[in-house]
Amino acid sequence: MLYGIIGDIHSNLTALEVVLDELHEAGVDDILCLGDVVGYAAHPSECLQIVREEATAIVAGNHDWAAAGKVDTSCFNADARDSAKWTSNHLSDEQLYFLANLPLTTTVDDITLAHSTLYSPEYFDYVQTKHQARMCFERQQTSVAFVGHSHVPVIFVDDEPVKYFLRPQYTVPDDGRALINVGSVGQPRDMDPRAAYGLYDSESRTVYLRRIEYDIDSEAEAIKEAGLPSTNARRLKVGR
Ligand code: ZN
Repeated sequence: MLYGIIGDIHSNLTALEVVLDELHEAGVDDILCLGDVVGYAAHPSECLQIVREEATAIVAGNHDWAAAGKVDTSCFNADARDSAKWTSNHLSDEQLYFLANLPLTTTVDDITLAHSTLYSPEYFDYVQTKHQARMCFERQQTSVAFVGHSHVPVIFVDDEPVKYFLRPQYTVPDDGRALINVGSVGQPRDMDPRAAYGLYDSESRTVYLRRIEYDIDSEAEAIKEAGLPSTNARRLKVGR
């Protein structure tokens, strides 16, 4: 099976469409989504509708739950809080209900999905250190797990000590395990503004981290026209 892995779309329809085209061109059998479909950019309803049609599994991101009123946004910065409120007002009741009822983690075949961590997904912590990756591996029942949230692509490998790679391709050994962040479709934060996504070939146990250019100016313009915080548009251009 060839899986397309997407996450942290953040209402960026322009990036989502380009990434989905790439996934279909690659011949994926299934698409899995790591959450944060909405928040920040101008097309939450469209993005959610498309992801629901395309993905066989979706987990809840903190921005999905914030829009649905299920996460307290007092810990968000002002722009994120304003964006969550705007997003909430631009989704239907049915869509808000759908977001509120997404699971925090799920398993598809030999793959675990979570937006944040595997050990306390309800707290929406980031997996950024080897120690945090180790704590995830202690809970991981599958050969591979995919997480989002940091918007920074990275591959952690279960070893003693844990190793990590930034390389774009990695084959998980037959007796090994990996925890992968494929990066963000709609708001990259690793100083590379191109949309990020992943592919996973379960036969060869190979993970591919991919980047693709999209029309950032058009998405930034839509954000400004919608009256969303201008920072949401500016950060797309620098990828942070
Ligand atoms: Zn996010």
